[in-house]
Amino acid sequence: MDAVTYSLKINNSDSGRYYADIRTFADEVFAESGESLQPITENYTWYLKEYGLEEIRETEEYILELLSFGVLWRNYASTALAAKTAPYITLARMSEWRKKHQRMKPYIDFARGVLFTLFLLPYNKKYEDLPVPRLEDIDHVCKWFEATGEFREQALRFIRWRAYWGTLNETELFNIFLSIRKFTDWFIQRSAEVLGKYTGNVDGFLRRSEKKYRWREDRIQCSRSRLEYHLNMVGAELMNRAFRREYSETKKRIVLLPGCMRAHANSECKAVKVKEGLICGDCTPACNVNRLRHMGLKKNFDVYIIPHASDLSLWSPRKGREKAGIIATACATTLVEGGWELKRYDVPAQCVLLDCSGCKKHWHADGIPTGFNIPEFKRILNLTYLSKT
Ligand code: SF4
Repeated sequence: MDAVTYSLKINNSDSGRYYADIRTFADEVFAESGESLQPITENYTWYLKEYGLEEIRETEEYILELLSFGVLWRNYASTALAAKTAPYITLARMSEWRKKHQRMKPYIDFARGVLFTLFLLPYNKKYEDLPVPRLEDIDHVCKWFEATGEFREQALRFIRWRAYWGTLNETELFNIFLSIRKFTDWFIQRSAEVLGKYTGNVDGFLRRSEKKYRWREDRIQCSRSRLEYHLNMVGAELMNRAFRREYSETKKRIVLLPGCMRAHANSECKAVKVKEGLICGDCTPACNVNRLRHMGLKKNFDVYIIPHASDLSLWSPRKGREKAGIIATACATTLVEGGWELKRYDVPAQCVLLDCSGCKKHWHADGIPTGFNIPEFKRILNLTYLSKT
């Protein structure tokens, strides 16, 4: 495997095998949650209904929220709790400013990189052991998640869970956190068995690149553990299942692609800038973006190239505009966050994972043109309200 971190293509095959594996494993995760997490989500949805806090979503989404809480708590709570003072609000706002003001992004990102390392990622951790969640600690860790800009969507969901947990007694809370912890332990072991073959280069990448990313704004994004890759792989599949019904009711489809799928870098790419992003200028027939553009002309979907961390609220339904189903693509470190953000903007969406990560900005010195599994893309493109899968 010569991928930077993960690759959905193993033994020079295409990524078809991965999609068979991930579907089977997502079934297993859902079944395993039946006795441990689903009773918790049932009580939670009762609370949400009782107080009219949100329209009830699919069970898969709530399971993914609890699993994400278990994994992210394990990976980040010690660090977040050791970071006592930080410009949390400014950092959280900076991650929004960079989306809205793309021209200012390099300057904002430079400042974020320095502030992350100075304030959010203390070298001497006070808490070496994984702390058992306490409600006040969850508040602090959620503030830290928001400040990173990497886990904003997760933080928004955890804060709602925390409000519910605030209504329970100590024994009930203890049992919930014990169930999440046991489920997370099971997931750590089982996901490594099933998905480990796709993430074999992650640990080596993390060892080699520790110093290189030290002062960079993508330090957290590019330092995700192998476990988080597994979480995001299962997360993308569970999310697609949860969002499928609404997406399949749309007739118009729009495909959002990252810049790393282009055959050429910025200066040589002839794509034209528009409000929503970039539209391919048809300079290279073999370019993956151009191939999809041609497919779109035949099958009646639009294709846009959008920058990493762009303003996804642009795609929210507007009066007088047909509600479109969005197919979004990104690498394993960012796809789930983007999917949740689209959901927050009421955009019916599905996602397709890039077969590997390779952009010059974050991952590879020269950049590797990326792509995704075309049969999987066509399957999603063709989903209608009559589809069974
Ligand atoms: S074919 Fe389109 S997307 Fe690809 S490099 Fe050329 S203009 Fe850019």
